[in-house]
Amino acid sequence: MIATPTMPLEAATPAHICPFDQACSYLEAAAKELRLDQGVLEILSHPRKVVTVSIPVKLDNGEIRVLAGHRVQHSDILGPYKGGIRYHPAVTLREVSALAMLMTWKCALLGIPYGGAKGGIAIAPENYSVGELERITRRYTSELIKDIGPSVDIPAPDMGTSAREMAWMMDTYSVNMGHAVPGVVTGKPLSVGGSLGREKATGRGTMIIVREALADQGRTLAGIRVVIQGFGNVGGAAAELLYEAGAKIIAVSTATGGVYAADGLDIPALKAYAAENHHNLLNFPHTRAISNAELLTLPCDVLIPAALENQITAENVDQVQAQIIAEAANGPITLEANRVLEARGVTVLPDILANAGGVVVSYLEWVQGLSYLFWDEERVNREMEHLMVQAYRQVIQQSQMRQVPLRLAAYTLGVGRVAQALSDRGLYP
Ligand code: GLU
Repeated sequence: MIATPTMPLEAATPAHICPFDQACSYLEAAAKELRLDQGVLEILSHPRKVVTVSIPVKLDNGEIRVLAGHRVQHSDILGPYKGGIRYHPAVTLREVSALAMLMTWKCALLGIPYGGAKGGIAIAPENYSVGELERITRRYTSELIKDIGPSVDIPAPDMGTSAREMAWMMDTYSVNMGHAVPGVVTGKPLSVGGSLGREKATGRGTMIIVREALADQGRTLAGIRVVIQGFGNVGGAAAELLYEAGAKIIAVSTATGGVYAADGLDIPALKAYAAENHHNLLNFPHTRAISNAELLTLPCDVLIPAALENQITAENVDQVQAQIIAEAANGPITLEANRVLEARGVTVLPDILANAGGVVVSYLEWVQGLSYLFWDEERVNREMEHLMVQAYRQVIQQSQMRQVPLRLAAYTLGVGRVAQALSDRGLYP
């Protein structure tokens, strides 16, 4: 592999798949396709800044625990660093570094003026009280106070965080600055300058990309059999919007397992059921329970992994039957599995395109904030749709021109734009 981040990193988890090495492999493939200079590849292979802070927190029982909080700023060549904050037990510095790099290519691919970053704390938020989570989030923000800012680095929600955490981050930053700074984060609650349409934006973006891919095959969403792994902010919204568009969602899951119905699930009813049952889908009427492993291998038209990384691997890829896979999660397919799928001619709609709706509406939120304007939801959705469809078309065109799969096409566009900007800006000193 070309590089690892400049700071020593802890062992990758799971042991056999290093997310940062995987991200570098895709970068290397794009660099080769673009015939990038070795020095440029070297620069793009390293995050510009890696920050790890200690977060001492007093738990409700009086015990003091010290957590590690990361923020990796991969590139700000095209604009302020941008990317989510993840609270999940599997968070490692390597994972955050990989996800920060993906954000750089994602923003460049979508043509929005941002670099890439990602942050995270290795905790299971459900094991902490709201008060504890607030103290963790505020201390983490305060430790990063010099590294973030509306024109420096703009965090947003990711797995395990939401508008609530963004409000705490915005408040902590603002109190420290002595005045309100809503632009320091996106994905905020509406009350403090959030945007309409942000919450469902990632799922909506996935729906749009799937719809476009089907249209290219002369098909529509009506009656299409869809399987979705994950029923949270991304998977849940994608399920709802695809259902509204007439698709048949035959299986969905959460971390504790999923449900299957050959004739399609009643998604609004399932959402209400999950909300009442602490996010548990099991025993939903007229369905059969299904494991996450089985779900990925169901016969269907479209498979949408919308949960964690490394779900489709060398071990299960031969059983995957979908002809279209939309990566609503970041990195749900391993490098090896990706090779197999591409060789089989499966249409893989890559993460940096298929889940870009979230950061696109983050951008629209930031733009509204900077211009002191509030758009209605219809306008937000329209602007987002325009950027998503434009990027999709560019990826298809690139894929046809270079005769490469969609992922490599998307990477050549994203990486190529960053490399061009790097070359135009030049190397300081
Ligand atoms: N966490 C989301 C992502 O991975 C959104 C990031 C953002 O809005 O900055 O794309």
